[in-house]
Amino acid sequence: MTNPPFAITLEVGSSRANLTGSWRVERPVYVDHLPPCNNACPAGENIQRWLYDAEPGDYERAWRQLVDDNPFPAVMGRICYHPCETACNRAQLDEAVGINSIERFLGDLAIERGWELPAPGKDTGKRVLVIGGGPAGLSAAYHLRRLGHHVHLVDSSPRLGGMMRYGIPSYRLPRAVLDAEIDRIIALGIEVELDRTVTDIEQERQSGHYDAVFLGVGAQLAKRVEIPAGDSAKILDAVSLLHRVAEGDPPLLGRRVAIYGGGDTALDAARTARRLGATDAVIVYRRNREHMPAHGDEIAETIAEGVTMRWLSTVHSFEGDHLVLETMRLNDAGFPEPTGEFEELEADSLVLALGQNSDLSLLAGEPDITIEDGVIDVSSTSMAAASGIFAGGDAVPSERTATIAIGHGKRASLGIDAYLSGCRVVEPEPRELAGFENLNTWYYSDAPRSHRPQLEVARRQNTFEEIVGGLNEDNALFEARRCLSCGNCFECDNCFGVCPDNAVIKLGPSQRYEVDYDFCKGCGICASECPCGAIVMVPEPV
Ligand SMILES: Cc1cc2nc3c(=O)[nH]c(=O)nc-3n(C[C@H](O)[C@H](O)[C@H](O)COP(=O)(O)OP(=O)(O)OC[C@H]3O[C@@H](n4cnc5c(N)ncnc54)[C@H](O)[C@@H]3O)c2cc1C
Ligand code: SF4
Ligand code: SF4
Ligand code: SF4
Repeated sequence: MTNPPFAITLEVGSSRANLTGSWRVERPVYVDHLPPCNNACPAGENIQRWLYDAEPGDYERAWRQLVDDNPFPAVMGRICYHPCETACNRAQLDEAVGINSIERFLGDLAIERGWELPAPGKDTGKRVLVIGGGPAGLSAAYHLRRLGHHVHLVDSSPRLGGMMRYGIPSYRLPRAVLDAEIDRIIALGIEVELDRTVTDIEQERQSGHYDAVFLGVGAQLAKRVEIPAGDSAKILDAVSLLHRVAEGDPPLLGRRVAIYGGGDTALDAARTARRLGATDAVIVYRRNREHMPAHGDEIAETIAEGVTMRWLSTVHSFEGDHLVLETMRLNDAGFPEPTGEFEELEADSLVLALGQNSDLSLLAGEPDITIEDGVIDVSSTSMAAASGIFAGGDAVPSERTATIAIGHGKRASLGIDAYLSGCRVVEPEPRELAGFENLNTWYYSDAPRSHRPQLEVARRQNTFEEIVGGLNEDNALFEARRCLSCGNCFECDNCFGVCPDNAVIKLGPSQRYEVDYDFCKGCGICASECPCGAIVMVPEPV
């Protein structure tokens, strides 16, 4: 009799060769990819994270996450051109998440509820001078103070805010909102000196015994062009116009106002002229709409308010009650060329909105600082001179927006902190971008975007009342929940549920998950079923 072929039974755990993991050629790994919104925010906000915190209704936690990078959520939620939304993956599904409107909701709620910024860090004994109290200077001061440095902020204006106060009109940024967010920063213990212009940076530094300096002097000087004009012709620049309006002393412009320029400042000047009583506010621009540097939404709003456009025109001369315009044509490269054809435009005043220059005369005695094309050359840590002078905002080479200035202020504060402690700036590990192609979009429900209410056009034309309203709690929450959490686990439990080997271990709320590699056979179903691409399959280590 032959022996039956008995199966061999081993005790559980007595042979490692029997674990599913030993067959594997690939293993799943949880990752945090870089969401495109975060990548696009010039202020460096961790947008995906604060949206995630807002989703269960924990608004204070979301706000705290947000102000870790940017102390101006209520301001940003009104004036930022929101490149984050342009980059948002959800735009490829239906419409981008209304990041900017949720940011404003959180900012306004914080003001209403009196939430305070995190307390400054332990005193380092170092003194930093910040010159300029615009968004760049205020952001630098905020982050430096949080790092425990003593900050002295000097500004030549009677009030802080820079162009946020003296440029951007109140129909886009009510001053009570701006004041609330500035006051909260200053309350961290920043020493402020107003109404004083720094004329010599080195002298200032030595007399105050500062260990480092941040320059955020902006670009305050309006560019001018020579326009042949009669004695009675009223010509002023947009920066002075907006500055005077902000101070409650608007100039008399007349009923027919021409604005010369194609940037956002030209639009604000034209919209302001309408509100000051101009029946004809006409923007004269040498190229066409496609080539206008102003932002598309702002152009549409300006036109809706009754401002008219004279495309492909330059101002040749101002003859008292009318402008002579020359018609332009665009060459193949998109540059305007004169045609020698002229027409007239009746006008009581002409507002020049041709851009601004920085006044860098305070750097005259600083041979180590390079100034090119009228702006300060800085290193990747925002350093302008090895002696500890840093710079940011409109005074350095960059696109000029308040959000970028805020990002510069933060970056410079890290550079200054490293300089003061004799270390190098620790750069975050580069992360892979969470692309739309990595999402399983069928897991997300349909959710149309919530739009903010707008003041009707008739009321906009003669009042400085705020145009865009805010979301209420219901639609802000709905909007936050539209986020797809690109490339970052949002604890949906899918991987936990679909794993056939029960190899996914749930670690508890906000703790996420881990894989028990002893039992994972590397089938990859968790990775392929993760809605947001937060699991990748990597080759099994040899
Ligand atoms: C009309 C207008 C509308 C705009 N709209 C928008 C918008 O909607 N969204 C957006 O993101 N950006 C907008 N911008 C751009 C934005 O305002 C600027 O990019 C931003 O304010 C630059 O910040 P900053 O801190 O570098 O300079 P600024 O805001 O210009 O601040 C510089 C500060 O330095 C002070 N200062 C200068 N020199 C000295 C000195 N020697 N001593 C002491 N103090 C000094 C000034 O008084 C000022 O307070 C707009 C700009 C304008 C003009
Ligand atoms: S600051 Fe601007 S870019 Fe950054 S999150 Fe806010 S709206 Fe988006
Ligand atoms: S869906 Fe959410 S995480 Fe993804 S890009 Fe948009 S806001 Fe950012
Ligand atoms: S499937 Fe869900 S729980 Fe698992 S990693 Fe992806 S988002 Fe997180």
